[in-house]
Amino acid sequence: MKVLKFGGSSVGSVESISRLMKILKDIDSLEERPIIVLSAMQGVTNLLSKMAEGAAVGINFASDLTALENLHFNVVKQLIAVRGQNPVYTQLKIYLNELEDLLQGVFTLQELSLQTKDRILSYGERCSVLLVSHVAAQYFPDTMVVDASDLIKTDSSFGNARVKALESGNLIRAFRENNPGKMFFVTGFIGSNAAGKITTLGRGGSDYTAAIFGAALDAEQVEIWTDVDGMLTADPRIVKKAFSLPILSYTEAMELSYFGAKVIYPPTMMPAFLKDIPIIIKNSFNPAFAGTVIQRDSGHSIFPIKGISSIDRVSILNLSGSGMIGKAGFSGKLFTLLAQNSINVILITQSSSEHSITFAVHPEDALQAKRIIESEFELEIAAEKINVPELEENLSVLAIVGEKMKQTPGISGKLFYAMGRNGINVRAIAQGSSEYNISVIISHTDLSKALNAVHDAFFSVLKTTLHVFCLGTGNISSTLFNQIQKQHLFLQENNDIELKMIGMSNSRKMYFDVDGIDLGNWKDTLEGEGEKADLESFISRMKDFNLPNCVLLDNTASEAPVRFYEDVFSSNISLVTCNKLANSGKYERYRSLRECARKHGVDFFYETNVGAGLPIVRTLKDLMTSGDQIISIEAILSGTISYIFNNYHGDKTFYEVVKTAQELGFTEPDPRDDLKGSDFMRKFLILARDSGLILEPEDVQLENILPDNCLNASSVDDFYAELKASEDHFKALKDKAAAENKAIRYIGKLENGKVNISLALVDSNHPFFTLSGSDNIISFTTERYFHRPLVVKGPGAGAEVTAAGVFAELVNVGHNA
Ligand code: ADP
Ligand code: ASP
Ligand code: MG
Repeated sequence: MKVLKFGGSSVGSVESISRLMKILKDIDSLEERPIIVLSAMQGVTNLLSKMAEGAAVGINFASDLTALENLHFNVVKQLIAVRGQNPVYTQLKIYLNELEDLLQGVFTLQELSLQTKDRILSYGERCSVLLVSHVAAQYFPDTMVVDASDLIKTDSSFGNARVKALESGNLIRAFRENNPGKMFFVTGFIGSNAAGKITTLGRGGSDYTAAIFGAALDAEQVEIWTDVDGMLTADPRIVKKAFSLPILSYTEAMELSYFGAKVIYPPTMMPAFLKDIPIIIKNSFNPAFAGTVIQRDSGHSIFPIKGISSIDRVSILNLSGSGMIGKAGFSGKLFTLLAQNSINVILITQSSSEHSITFAVHPEDALQAKRIIESEFELEIAAEKINVPELEENLSVLAIVGEKMKQTPGISGKLFYAMGRNGINVRAIAQGSSEYNISVIISHTDLSKALNAVHDAFFSVLKTTLHVFCLGTGNISSTLFNQIQKQHLFLQENNDIELKMIGMSNSRKMYFDVDGIDLGNWKDTLEGEGEKADLESFISRMKDFNLPNCVLLDNTASEAPVRFYEDVFSSNISLVTCNKLANSGKYERYRSLRECARKHGVDFFYETNVGAGLPIVRTLKDLMTSGDQIISIEAILSGTISYIFNNYHGDKTFYEVVKTAQELGFTEPDPRDDLKGSDFMRKFLILARDSGLILEPEDVQLENILPDNCLNASSVDDFYAELKASEDHFKALKDKAAAENKAIRYIGKLENGKVNISLALVDSNHPFFTLSGSDNIISFTTERYFHRPLVVKGPGAGAEVTAAGVFAELVNVGHNA
């Protein structure tokens, strides 16, 4: 025999009750009639509670009562044939009148006891059972309404009554024997005390009712029908990537639900566990889906944990003082005291020195707990043996749960890495003695971010989601957006990484979409829907989103974003940039940026600062971290200058070559910006610093390619005129090179702690002789690469290769997440 429990959403509307009938048709058999346990219709318990509490402070409940009546009457009208409607209307009316009398009493006395409240709440379940059983009576023979308050006996803790299992079991069995062959429709959630007064089993308690009936009658299984595909790895309302778990052990389900997974009420597991009855959580909106089986054995899973749950709001109390050390029974006394006052302690952590105890309670209990402690330990506090208890509010508990955890090393490391990298401060930690859960207390504002980050960390076979914010929408960004869009599927399938562009800004407009901006249409979206750009507010909005695995992309060439970098790192956001300015300014800034990123455990990637997408920065870093010593670095890092000298031969004048280079888009609008060598200087300075040198920009010796008259020209046109007039200056160099069979190269060199960049003539034996087009080349001479230097060569400029470099670094941030 099966017990089936349908929650609020499964009896929440005409459509759900019709669906419920279909489910029953597949299950009912005349040999063994199922037992159906029902909750109140969705929202009804909350509404009743609100009406009762309102009445107690003089708030009128008439319109809520009408709403309640309409909700139930509507089901009768739509689902019960006209000739059968009257008795149901009559009974409903009787219930609603009783309810009204009770509420009127509360209203008049302006007083609401827990006992009266339970009685008021019980009408939710009584009405829904009345309705559903009458609908069912049209399709099934021998249906019967069962008021569980006659059968489930409890103590008198109204609101959260404790069930007397033996007595209730006997009553349930006797009732069943006296009513053979009936299909029971049982009110969930309610019981009664020895005096026959109605009690409730705690919010969500209908699940428990089902398990109590299941255990009493040795059911073959208990099915909990709800509105999700079983128990998921996390609350699907917060973690979009949560997925359903096929098997859980009773303990795992208990821990997950105790720490907030509302889908099943924690005490439900106990009766089922004692009788070894499987509980199956099913989705009434998707009945074909297998759902989650809760049983003795936790089953096989490829993941080290089963799920993550959370308690939205808790407060913690911290008790410390020398008077607690070595004092046998101190914590026993403390917690007995709290229990006597019905204060539920959610979790406890005690430092190994016994110098302090921290425990979490529900926020509504916190002040009372503090006062009780203060009065109980008044003398100790006065004698300063114990400090006044400290209360911290607006906190949440996050718990990871799984039986396999205790055989798997590194679980807490992984948990804390995910937290730390995302800047989530852990206030207290508790590991259950069972080692089936590790719980941490964090600030409530971090909860959603923490749940998502921890979910990504533990279920990494799934995709890690990187949340990207991009500054600059010029050439490099637009190429990058294109690349990301093209690679989207590949990335997800091969790298387990999903990139979501949450915000973007250029100098005019900025736009945010927490679900990810469609990169196929970003231009129109930014132009059409974007707001006025403001860098400071862009950064603060990015921080306010408080998303896990967050990266800022600085694709500008501007100094403005740089001043926010430390703030970005301090907010635990990684940075990927092709902007060279941060690394090539004052040394002190270069140093402190790195230190800040390291301190916060985030990535600062800037491969594209030097040689676009070529692996130069990374190669140098790999050499350094593997313990190699840099002896010298030689490099050509200006694609523009390379192009110009590579094409300066034969009859062409220097003027003509520069002009063509500009026409081909190889130069800045003012070609002097390239020819002055300052860009080259910046790149080389970054390399020199990365190789360990402490250098300021002024320390780099830079040879001028251009004669003074060209440099000083007042406009670009004048510059070209002066360049034309200076052909002799360049021709002398060209002729010398031709006569010696050499090539003209503009080379940066680092040696003996000094850096200089100058023109040189190299012969055909030199590795830089054969450089073509606008390529970059760099050669590292190290202790290991001594006789034959390590050379990296290739296209060192252009939007495609730069964007590709940026893209690769984004993926690397994802891998580090
Ligand atoms: P019912 O009314 O059927 O008893 P509840 O609202 O009590 O349903 O519980 C189901 C809800 O629990 C789901 O809609 C979901 O939002 C929430 N929930 C929280 N954590 C989890 C989880 N880990 N797995 C599944 N659901 C969860
Ligand atoms: N109706 C009750 C509640 O909302 C019991 C339940 O749904 O399980 O708490
Ligand atoms: Mg529930």
